[in-house]
Amino acid sequence: MNPPFRSSVLARRTLLGGAVAGAAAGLIGTLPASRLLAQDGAGAPAGTSPEKGARLILLGTKGGPRVGGARSNPANALVVDGNLYIIDCGMGVTAQAVKAGLDLSKLRDIFISHMHSDHELEFGNLVYNTWAAGQLRQPVNAYGPKGLADMARDYWASNSADIHTRIADEGRVDPATLLKVHEFDAATGPVMDDGVVKVTAFTTPHPPLKDLAYRFETAYGTIVISGDTAFNPALAEFARDCDVLVHETLYVPGVDALVKRAHQGAEFRNHLLSSHTSAQDVGKIATMARAKKLVLTHFVPGDMDWITDQMWHDAAATNYSGEIVVGHDLQSITLG
Ligand SMILES: [Zn+2]
Ligand SMILES: [Zn+2]
Repeated sequence: MNPPFRSSVLARRTLLGGAVAGAAAGLIGTLPASRLLAQDGAGAPAGTSPEKGARLILLGTKGGPRVGGARSNPANALVVDGNLYIIDCGMGVTAQAVKAGLDLSKLRDIFISHMHSDHELEFGNLVYNTWAAGQLRQPVNAYGPKGLADMARDYWASNSADIHTRIADEGRVDPATLLKVHEFDAATGPVMDDGVVKVTAFTTPHPPLKDLAYRFETAYGTIVISGDTAFNPALAEFARDCDVLVHETLYVPGVDALVKRAHQGAEFRNHLLSSHTSAQDVGKIATMARAKKLVLTHFVPGDMDWITDQMWHDAAATNYSGEIVVGHDLQSITLG
């Protein structure tokens, strides 16, 4: 994996923080007890405070459903005062969350941007895995477009043999009763406010689908996550004055190589170009939004080594003079 570009110091510090939290939660690795600092509430030694502050963790930064390479499929985590929010559930989200040292027992809400599989394929499994690990101790709310409730219902049905065996055999609570799905078709407005995070959604075009961008306002700053979107100046209005804009990106010279590898033709090429935003245009959105920091993610293509971090950066910097982070899996960005 390439080192995170222009954020190596921050990334090293926050990755270490994640590892410490993971060890404290008994999830990964072993560290001396003296280093079990209270990065997170559960698993921290008794008498220590829960984690304070807000940080975004990029769990998967590759656009598209193809599995493999140095990047996992799209998923993000936001941790605010120890509470965990997951935004998009591409394949691998649970394993990436564990690798990041996140405490799944602190999972509060899941936000799905749209019903492309690279954003929802592991939605059910994330909730299931949390439940199976004994960490689903409170209801989890899921927010997303129409189709999400059907997906949840069908997920529980397709796993009913296992789930009902465990309920009867292990005395577990039915996980279906702990997942509350909230659907909305098109939205510009408030979605959720739990006193820790205030979330609003904004519908943005991602032909032939619509995508939900989410704005997360915390006491430590504001993050906007685009989801998948065509170039949309209206999204800049929604993201106005945010501290961190997390935006999908496409590298136009890489599209032909991607189309060829996927054994696809002009139709697929047109889909990519008309439903995503080039890195140059992402820079325009960041400038229009007056975003303090731009984080590039959902790289298309996301697994071609000849497209370097410098190339992604320079393409976005064509139209944006602020700080640009070329995102990598497990990279953490602290707010405030
Ligand atoms: Zn996608
Ligand atoms: Zn998509």
